[in-house]
Amino acid sequence: MPELPEVETVARQLAPVLQGRRALGLRRLDPLLRVDAAPRLRGRTLEEVRRSGKQVVFRFSTVERDSRPVWGVIHLRMTGRLIWVGAGERRPARHLRAMLALEGGRLLFYDARRFGTWGWHRSETGFAPAGVDPLDSRLDLNRFVALLGGSRQELKAWLLRQDRLVGLGNIYASEILHRARLSPFRPAGSLSRGEAGDLLRATRRILRRAIDACGTTFSDFQDSRGLTGTYARYLTVYDRGGEPCRRCGSAVRRVVQHQRSTYYCASCQG
Ligand SMILES: [Zn+2]
Repeated sequence: MPELPEVETVARQLAPVLQGRRALGLRRLDPLLRVDAAPRLRGRTLEEVRRSGKQVVFRFSTVERDSRPVWGVIHLRMTGRLIWVGAGERRPARHLRAMLALEGGRLLFYDARRFGTWGWHRSETGFAPAGVDPLDSRLDLNRFVALLGGSRQELKAWLLRQDRLVGLGNIYASEILHRARLSPFRPAGSLSRGEAGDLLRATRRILRRAIDACGTTFSDFQDSRGLTGTYARYLTVYDRGGEPCRRCGSAVRRVVQHQRSTYYCASCQG
């Protein structure tokens, strides 16, 4: 499941290639995929591609007949992929679910397992995530402490809930807690102000590094060029159960918390 860095990677790669192109239309190729019927796109320009939470968002311009922009919002989920092909280029049709035709080429939406979605909105409030983006510069320590605000939930589970911080999943939650030297079992609301600062800094550091590495690839994730991210080589605890902690040498532990694997070092994260 792509997390924030993987989705950011896709959006950053697509933005310079797609922005400024005029839209010709959307074709749904698979009736089973959850792709909403698109509003009329012809004549609109794709003005912006960006990430919102774990979604890739496309903003199409207004047109004379319609004074409001249109937003296309894609959730890649497990196996969704977006691949740009220029005019005349061919790509395999297997698992191709939808196709956005733009001037000069097509954006192909592949999804082997069909958990992905492609929705359309007429306002930004329609798809705004419930939680705060951890990379949003307006998230300062005061606001972060307020988010943690007295929660009795275990930290690992707290990081995964999308209505507080948005975009974190199982891989980065374990990595962040290891970097911040915080136990995944601590109640989120029990952190001192200093520890909350450590957690916020670790979150941003890990996410930025992962974005620089174009994300982590486990099984299915590929970026918009069909490449795989390289962050896996920097993982300190995730998927390393029984191996030595890179900081202190103790064996990394794997436990199941709320049906999800948590990896941590009991000595570093006491
Ligand atoms: Zn350790």
